[in-house]
Amino acid sequence: MPNRRQFLVQTSAATALTVLPFTARADGHAPDTFPTANGEVTIHPISHASFVMTTPEGTVWVDPVGDPSAYADKPAPDMILITHEHGDHYDQALLDAVVTDGMPIIANSSVYGMLPEAMQANATSLDNGDATQFNKLDVYAIPAYNITEGRTDFHPVGRDNGYLVEVDEMRIYISGDTEDIPEMRALENIDLAFVCMNLPFTMDAEAAASAVNEFEPKNVYPYHYRGRDNGTQDPQEFAEMLADGIAAKMGGWYS
Ligand code: ZN
Ligand code: ZN
Repeated sequence: MPNRRQFLVQTSAATALTVLPFTARADGHAPDTFPTANGEVTIHPISHASFVMTTPEGTVWVDPVGDPSAYADKPAPDMILITHEHGDHYDQALLDAVVTDGMPIIANSSVYGMLPEAMQANATSLDNGDATQFNKLDVYAIPAYNITEGRTDFHPVGRDNGYLVEVDEMRIYISGDTEDIPEMRALENIDLAFVCMNLPFTMDAEAAASAVNEFEPKNVYPYHYRGRDNGTQDPQEFAEMLADGIAAKMGGWYS
């Protein structure tokens, strides 16, 4: 039996919901390891927009959602990072299952406002442009929003975050849900990037590749590439559009 899971994806600021069936990865994609100044960062893709990242400053769970069993063999979180409120990024039931007393959560202000009081007590709310620290890991909130007419309600300007994480001299960009925005193109010295692509919620593979070719990360994971109707993007096509010197990492996000 395939381990099928259903994710709720909120399609607008209103209440419309679309159910996207995603298949959890059957036998797991081998984690990728990247050297840092004094150690290493290891990426464990979970599914769609969710991954576990071990660093010299602790283990970070990024946009954890879904069935806790998908995380059963992964390192426990020291900190949880959440980009925005949509169900494929923020899942209070999962947080209830895994967040222990005092565990720090870093989220955009809208998700921060949805957390129960006990979690808020150890949470940090970041608006676009804000920064905070967890141990010696720096987190900067990068804007993430839609620019195409008719789609700006999905991710309105100023509400949601992408993140730049700096740890042990390694710079990691996590796009969150966004289109090809100037703030992404302006990033510099990125070692590892996670870049979303799907329609209608974010952008197509071509726009993603165009932006990535401008900020030139050393490594990039296409992620969050299943979309609605024909909106799923092909990560291989994305990889083929990348300039020389940018390595595409395939996370096996959907098995
Ligand atoms: Zn979203
Ligand atoms: Zn999303």
